[in-house]
Amino acid sequence: MSDIDTSQFLIKTEPYYRPVGDEIDQYAAAYDVRMPVMLKGPTGCGKSRFVEYMAWKLQRPLITVACNEDMTASDLIGRFLLDINGTKWQDGPLTVAARIGAICYLDEVVEARQDTTVVIHPLTDHRRQLPLEKKGELVDAHPDFQVVISYNPGYQSMMKDLKQSTKQRFGAMSFDYPSTGTEAEIVAHEAGIDLKTAERLVQVAQRSRNLKGHGLDEGMSTRLLVYAGQLIAKNIAPQAACQMALVEPLTDDGDMRDTLQAAVTTFFPEVSDSSKVA
Ligand code: ADP
Repeated sequence: MSDIDTSQFLIKTEPYYRPVGDEIDQYAAAYDVRMPVMLKGPTGCGKSRFVEYMAWKLQRPLITVACNEDMTASDLIGRFLLDINGTKWQDGPLTVAARIGAICYLDEVVEARQDTTVVIHPLTDHRRQLPLEKKGELVDAHPDFQVVISYNPGYQSMMKDLKQSTKQRFGAMSFDYPSTGTEAEIVAHEAGIDLKTAERLVQVAQRSRNLKGHGLDEGMSTRLLVYAGQLIAKNIAPQAACQMALVEPLTDDGDMRDTLQAAVTTFFPEVSDSSKVA
């Protein structure tokens, strides 16, 4: 089935990715043997960026699906659509990926209902096949096809978990927020601010991360730090930038907001000193 324009799924320019360990080599080895890979870790810590980078490096098309609880198996596999000539089958993203040999990234897969998740089972064992039952077709996955899933183990206790029968089809890599220096480097690069300011943002985030489980479900992500940095780079005063990008998104609780705001003022005392944008 080569009437699909594969190039639309290729990542043309190198995404900025700052390695934090051996993850590039490990993933490349897993891809070499077409091992399905699970990326575990908190939200906004670099999992999606890593997959984009690897897809670029391996020169594979990348098809990303943001999973949610309303998603059905048909949303992944495909469905018959009505058109003027009757009905017409339309492949879903998983089917397209299997046909063209893409990396299919199912982001936050735990959000999807378990009966949806099981459709990836025959693609993630020796069969590497996808049955399109409604269409009466059995798709053999392209040799380059690979499934990657991400999920945040932190949410599990509150919500749902992946079935063991799903989990045990994947090699897993754990991601976390990088060390202070590395995270500051990332934030400085992504937001276009100086390293010192980025470091202070990281320190604010670290305070919030210590509050995880003590009134916060999650600490401030690297993504939010980048947002704060971007506001600062647009000449928004650091305190206001932190309020908007770091404090408000995290909590609706007044006391917790005060606590986080106090952490902000510790590292960004009023009328900023040397924290101006480079
Ligand atoms: P996740 O998929 O884990 O929720 P993302 O990959 O979207 O998170 O990361 C959020 C943002 O954080 C990215 O857009 C990027 O700006 C930044 N980021 C985090 N880690 C890295 C890293 N190691 N290298 C480069 N950018 C990173």
